[in-house]
Amino acid sequence: MKVIDTHCHLFFDSFDADREEVVKRASAAGVCHLINVGIDAETNAQSLELAKRFTNISCTAGLHPHHAHEITDAGLDEFEKFVAANPVVAIGEVGLDYFKSQAPPEVQKKIFARMVQLAKRYSLPMIVHSRDAFKDTLDVLKAEGKGAVKGVMHCFSYESSSFYELLDIGFLASFTANITFKNAAALLEVAKKAPLDRIMLETDSPYLAPQSFRGRRNEPANVAHLAEFLAGERGISKEELGRITTDTAVKFFGLKGVL
Ligand SMILES: [Zn+2]
Ligand SMILES: [Zn+2]
Repeated sequence: MKVIDTHCHLFFDSFDADREEVVKRASAAGVCHLINVGIDAETNAQSLELAKRFTNISCTAGLHPHHAHEITDAGLDEFEKFVAANPVVAIGEVGLDYFKSQAPPEVQKKIFARMVQLAKRYSLPMIVHSRDAFKDTLDVLKAEGKGAVKGVMHCFSYESSSFYELLDIGFLASFTANITFKNAAALLEVAKKAPLDRIMLETDSPYLAPQSFRGRRNEPANVAHLAEFLAGERGISKEELGRITTDTAVKFFGLKGVL
């Protein structure tokens, strides 16, 4: 089986002791590529270093909504310079998060709008984080993207109707192991019925370990468990699910030499 972990954060301290082994374990589990997703200037730079070190890792440039209130105008200029100068495969993660965030919604919306404009200017796909903010997320994407920006809503956790609204604006959704949680029946239903060529898979490591490992550090190798779980729920082989979602991710991020 081949599968791609389209969203992980390997720069966190929790991987300092065994980062190399974590990457090796992913390869051994059939995870042929990892998208390491930055959340601010510091982690974007760390992600770039990781992408230089490991051929099976690509990096992005992101500014997580929780950090939206920390960035200055000069910081935004630096962000754009970083995007222009480096081989990032996406703008993200960026978005809106109204669940216990220090960053006020108005500030988040302003920064998110700038990020959509940037994605458009550099013809890069977006990785969008959205929590308790679906309507505003969609409004900003429609107003600023004007149909010319492609993206994925990562860790999709909204209801079925929201999933199809996303598809309507040309977006994809990626699912994490939260679909394996015992209380996630409705979300699992969305993942089971979704058109297979409009979804991707991710771990969001080190967060969101699958049900059987809950409470432990998550790692990219576990995206293989997720593929197997969803394939079982959909009544298809894990190879088929892996092949189709990998194809989608390769095209979406413009990955070279992965297949
Ligand atoms: Zn996120
Ligand atoms: Zn994330």
